[in-house]
Amino acid sequence: MNKSPLPVLTLKNIWLSYKSGDGQLDVLRGIDFTLNQGELVALVAPSGTGKSTLLHVAGMLESPQKGEVFLSGKNATQLNDYERTQMRLHYVGFVYQFHHLLVEFTAQENVMLPQLTAHVSKKQAAQNAKNWLEKFSLGQRLDHLPGKLSGGEQQRVAIARALANHPHVLLADEPTGNLDQKTSDHVFDLLLQIVRQEGLAALIATHNIELAKKMDRVITIEEGKVVPYNF
Ligand code: ADP
Ligand code: MG
Repeated sequence: MNKSPLPVLTLKNIWLSYKSGDGQLDVLRGIDFTLNQGELVALVAPSGTGKSTLLHVAGMLESPQKGEVFLSGKNATQLNDYERTQMRLHYVGFVYQFHHLLVEFTAQENVMLPQLTAHVSKKQAAQNAKNWLEKFSLGQRLDHLPGKLSGGEQQRVAIARALANHPHVLLADEPTGNLDQKTSDHVFDLLLQIVRQEGLAALIATHNIELAKKMDRVITIEEGKVVPYNF
């Protein structure tokens, strides 16, 4: 029996530069990285080293100048806009540092929206959203607008939204970076618990070493490349 782990995300020799004045800023300089099914990896690196850029490339929110992105074995680099949107919708859940919830929609509606885009029926999407929010202890907050929720609650809704379409990989960019220590620990623990329950793979950028240690592996970015983090 083949017991080798299944890669859900593979980055192959990714290069990305930004224009900077007259020159260019080489942010990603040959990123090679594989995330396996069910694996939780923390990305810990100083500000400005390219964490967000790497996550955006992995989530197909940004295209590299060179290199390839594979999601569950499918090459995501050669797709047209429609295919890219579909793949992002079904394969990737993205959580930002700031919740990016739609402020005129309730918590439940926010978790319904990506499902409706994926053509789940309204009734089913509402039920799924309720289930997700209950897992995140937000069963009493379904009808609340984001503005009426605390920072920790907003972020829990944002994570529920990212998981709503059962993605293969969760990408999170400093998901608790905007919260106080106690709330951050709580939200992070809940996130890890649910990601483990669902058997999901996750790549999470964080500045918090203690939180990073709870994950299976910790990586950093050095000179534009992914290397193991040295504690
Ligand atoms: P991190 O998330 O680790 O703080 P980023 O990926 O956001 O780092 O940014 C890496 C570098 O690229 C930084 O120097 C940043 O200023 C620069 N950068 C990020 N996005 C852009 C952009 N759209 N245009 C130009 N430079 C950018
Ligand atoms: Mg960043």
